[in-house]
Amino acid sequence: MNGWPFRRIVLIGPSGAGKSAVAGLLARRLGWTAVDTDALVEAAAGRDIATIFRDDGEAAFRERERAAVREACAAGECVVAAGGGAPVDAQNAEELWRDAFVVALQARPATALARLAATGERRPLLEGPERMERIGAQQEARAAVYGLADWTVRTDGLTPEHVAIEIERAARDHAAELLAARASASAAPDPLVVFEVRTATARYPIVVGWDILDSLGERLREMGLGGTAHIITDTTVQAAHGERALASLRRAGIDADVCAVPPGESSKSLERAASVYDWLVARKAERGHVIVGLGGGVAGDLAGFVAATFLRGMPLVLAPTSLLAMVDASVGGKVAVDHREGKNLIGAFYQPRLVFDDVALLRTIAPRELAAGWAEVVKHAFILDAELLAMLESRPEAAVALDPVFATQLVARNAALKGRIVSDDERETAGLRITLNYGHTIGHGIEAATAYGEYLHGEAVAIGMMGAAAISVRMGLLDPRVAARQETLLRKLGLPLRAPGVGAERVLAAMALDKKVRGRRIRWVLLAAAGRTVIRDDVPEALVREVVAELTA
Ligand code: NAD
Repeated sequence: MNGWPFRRIVLIGPSGAGKSAVAGLLARRLGWTAVDTDALVEAAAGRDIATIFRDDGEAAFRERERAAVREACAAGECVVAAGGGAPVDAQNAEELWRDAFVVALQARPATALARLAATGERRPLLEGPERMERIGAQQEARAAVYGLADWTVRTDGLTPEHVAIEIERAARDHAAELLAARASASAAPDPLVVFEVRTATARYPIVVGWDILDSLGERLREMGLGGTAHIITDTTVQAAHGERALASLRRAGIDADVCAVPPGESSKSLERAASVYDWLVARKAERGHVIVGLGGGVAGDLAGFVAATFLRGMPLVLAPTSLLAMVDASVGGKVAVDHREGKNLIGAFYQPRLVFDDVALLRTIAPRELAAGWAEVVKHAFILDAELLAMLESRPEAAVALDPVFATQLVARNAALKGRIVSDDERETAGLRITLNYGHTIGHGIEAATAYGEYLHGEAVAIGMMGAAAISVRMGLLDPRVAARQETLLRKLGLPLRAPGVGAERVLAAMALDKKVRGRRIRWVLLAAAGRTVIRDDVPEALVREVVAELTA
């Protein structure tokens, strides 16, 4: 292909995944050069990596590695094999991802170990007894970073030649897609589209702006979703914004009507869904008509559930009106109603065609509901996005006051972040999406222990994040100053930090039923730094008890 839209193919992944061998073969196929950051480090130091580690320590090695990554990424068209730990460093990650097609090579620990043994390579962090366990633990700790690659190849059972062929094919596909996207973007730039979600089953834009509700109908028309629309909302949102939404659709020539259910979680029920089905039948709804979910997570989840099931599926548009729904619930395609035995037990993965966030609609929401939405934003910042964290810390009062520019920027960044995560992992099977459960293990325990009546979900998550950070600090994973930053930010955004008087035993009992349990051990999402998580299933029970007791005292 002439004119690649990226300058490099970067291979990341654990030791023993085959990066160096594949880089050489792939570079030859493309007529490019191959660069190996570990080899650059060794050449510059005149010693092998094991010796550098032994003599100078890991910090010195990482410094040399940063220089090697900079050098590799300054070269022209090349295939870069990055050291296993290199992309974990934020500065390296920025270099590696810039102008590159990033491919993660994965290998099961047994495969990686066999390959390292066959080549005689020594990896200082994987030396000593229990190597297999250490490889597994290292892979898990780095899974979130590897998960950010544009493409992943499982190399078990494949020869380096096969892997190189696969990557070349993927790179050409990716290049073609990028070129096509750039062509259409330059033809019709749309500043309000902050992200395009791409999953195995769907592609859809997330539109974010301030005071844009009046253009909803026009947007639907442009997307080929004109015709007839059925708005599903709750009566509170209907009173505040329903008429404007309806008028916008009608102005665009769309035949539209509204079904408003009572506000609150109780509307996420099969009975309520049945009443909406009745309304749709009476309106003679057809398969090509559009369901518009206008409201918070409740209206959105209910509308999504109805859209997924009525007539075996109708096009769905989500126009979230709560902060929680804008930054979380509307993106990802999880739609559900509750069962009396548990929340969200009956549902599906069903992606919308459009997510339309008018941030100005947040001006009418209750302050407590708004604060609960900020909890999800804080969560995103701490688990994934240190820059977002710095943004929030710089002007928390402007966030609370819904400064038009700042609030829109924050919503856009968060909705895009969630979009990026679900694009990588639609069905919550792998590492990255699991990190969104940060704060949820204890948070769910608190919600369940109070029969979902006392704390809003976001409030419980805020308290859960306090607990998860405390556990991270006490396990030696996190600098206490990061936990203190989290506490300060949550407080400034008006969120509770503790749940006094909620019985610790009840919280612990409820946590044992938490759905994040795999086998019988709880998989904890913990913090390693601002913007970085680790998953651990070896948190001592005594520590959990201690932290929950403190939170509920
Ligand atoms: P909600 O929909 O009940 O909204 C909260 C309250 O604010 C309601 O009383 C609502 O009427 C009101 N409201 C919403 N927007 C308003 C506005 N602009 N002006 C005035 N009032 C407004 O609750 P929520 O917090 O938005 O969402 C919670 C629900 O979302 C839960 O059912 C949860 O299970 C679900 N959820 C779903 C996902 C998902 O991926 N699908 C993710 C997270 C949460």
